[in-house]
Amino acid sequence: MKIILFFIALICPLSGFADTADTSVTKRSANAYILTPAYATNIGLFNTAKGVVLIDPMPGENQLEALSAQVKSIFAKQVTYILNTHEHSDHSGGNAYFIAAGSELIQSTAAFADFDSMTVKSHTANDAIFVHKPSNTIFVGDIYTTNWHPTFYAGGVAGFVAAVDTILNLGDENSLIVPGHGKPTDKQQLKLFRQNTLQWVAQVKVLHDQGLTVSEIKNNAEIQRILSKFNPEHKTDFIPQPAVERFIERTLTVIEKGV
Ligand SMILES: [Zn+2]
Repeated sequence: MKIILFFIALICPLSGFADTADTSVTKRSANAYILTPAYATNIGLFNTAKGVVLIDPMPGENQLEALSAQVKSIFAKQVTYILNTHEHSDHSGGNAYFIAAGSELIQSTAAFADFDSMTVKSHTANDAIFVHKPSNTIFVGDIYTTNWHPTFYAGGVAGFVAAVDTILNLGDENSLIVPGHGKPTDKQQLKLFRQNTLQWVAQVKVLHDQGLTVSEIKNNAEIQRILSKFNPEHKTDFIPQPAVERFIERTLTVIEKGV
């Protein structure tokens, strides 16, 4: 089956998204859209028999007004239900805005024929994965990112691998995998992400066992090479140095916990 993706740059003078530059809109079907603001959270918009479902509204007054206008321009309806892949504010900070406008926050998609959902423990202790079956679109939250390093701090390596396996077992080879942040991709890219993550953990462990400090690990050529694999778009200002050190420290915490 040939999947056609429409990447349309949003140019709207009244839109707050215009302030945040290149938001892209991926149209999966007449009832399924993904909004991808640069450097921000991927947002899902799905029209169902029970109303419009919004996944992961990010905070920010201007963005939310723009998002609300966007929903109305796409579906000519307001948001009926809100879902969050996890509780972090960059995925749930817009809940209150839509609740105030009459939307309902729901924890499960059990009442929707169009969705499957499951929870795993990887980025947080309660990561939800949402599958929109008619459009073959899988929202995976921050289990997976395509513009940042992996963040498997709640589930450790075992939780991360189990979460990725869960995702890979959903949908089919044409499923669109929507990460929490960064461009949506496919299962091949997710498999590479898993492989790169395991290489990263193994290399941090090797260097730590050799007695290297966090700063020395950060400057290790192999570490730099693996880190660059999490930057498939080759952004020049990919991850600031202090964030790389924090990533190494948190990886060591996961290794010491032995999970
Ligand atoms: Zn996030």
